Amino acid sequence: MAYVELKNISKIYDDGTKAVSNVNIQIKDKEFVVLVGPSGCGKTTTLRMIAGLEEISEGELYIDGKLVNSLSPKDRDIAMVFQNYALYPHMNVYDNIAFGLKLRKFNKDEIDKRVKEVADILGLSESLRKKPKSLSGGQRQRVALGRAIVRNPKVFLFDEPLSNLDAKLRVQMRAEISKLHKKLNATIIYVTHDQVEAMTMGDRIVVMESGLVKQTDSPMKIYQNPVNKFVAGFIGTPSMNFIEGKLNFKDSIVFVSKQSKIDIPIMNEQIRNEKNNNKEVILGIRPENILLNNRKEESGRYFEFKSRVELIEPLGSQMLIHLFFGEQPMIAEISGMESVDRESEISFYIDLTKVHLFYKENGKNLLSL
Ligand code: ATP
Repeated sequence: MAYVELKNISKIYDDGTKAVSNVNIQIKDKEFVVLVGPSGCGKTTTLRMIAGLEEISEGELYIDGKLVNSLSPKDRDIAMVFQNYALYPHMNVYDNIAFGLKLRKFNKDEIDKRVKEVADILGLSESLRKKPKSLSGGQRQRVALGRAIVRNPKVFLFDEPLSNLDAKLRVQMRAEISKLHKKLNATIIYVTHDQVEAMTMGDRIVVMESGLVKQTDSPMKIYQNPVNKFVAGFIGTPSMNFIEGKLNFKDSIVFVSKQSKIDIPIMNEQIRNEKNNNKEVILGIRPENILLNNRKEESGRYFEFKSRVELIEPLGSQMLIHLFFGEQPMIAEISGMESVDRESEISFYIDLTKVHLFYKENGKNLLSL
């Protein structure tokens, strides 16, 4: 069992920087939780406080229900894997993995048993006698993982462990860490600024901005129901498109922007509320919800507009089309099988059942209040 609870945790550095403010996260036993957010949002500071490498300024940290604020890192039963996983260059793989156990005075047989088990899990059995310099980047990263796993800790903390690897290896290691999570049945807290990593690996994602937790939920819930414009724009590639405008209540709800008036009938009941009338809002449209084909058969569901195709980025199965909604640049993601000519003027269709609305004043999603 290993559950972790952060209760109103804050960090104020000596120079007065408030890096983390009132963070509340409950991580269940065996859960894989990813802290994600842009550079400087406080992810690493949060992780280091959990590890005991950084003092907690305010709040309480519990591991398995026990308050651990004043416990030293070695007494927290936690293993951390960093971005810069310095392996000992003069030691072979076996000794690198065994090092922590030797320090903790485990007996030789126990060390040997554990190192071999871990090497087997990580596919390193054939490389135990090799020195780090003769390993590939992915193998080195696995040795770093091995050093953490061999200790059999209650909780694993990962700080951007894949950011030094090339794109292909990152995808491969992403899958390996996910599989490892299942195999080890471990509680994992993983920090990254890469939202694709967060989406693909996490049971739950914690999105942070400026030291605050903005949303905690499963990847798909965050994608489908972002609580605010920041989360909506941060999660998903390419990013959500945004158009500024005002709401206008008539028979239906109309979104009025500089470029056009869009009837958004689907949202009628949820946001029809006097305080929203004439309110300045931002309409959010994910790139995959801008379609190419005429769907007139479902009247009211699609909003048609014309744009010149500025640029096409083929990705294989999908392609990205850069276009303009009035003067507003936008990106549509459509099937790579479609045939579209650059510079041509064509119709696009926004699926109005999938749009999002945010208040301009504070970025909050009108539907998640
Ligand atoms: P990155 O992805 O770039 O590592 P992060 O989200 O992990 O960013 P942190 O490293 O936790 O962010 O930093 C959060 C804030 O705290 C930043 O404004 C940073 O400049 C500040 N900070 C970090 N360490 C210290 C320190 N030792 N003293 C003062 N301020 C610090």
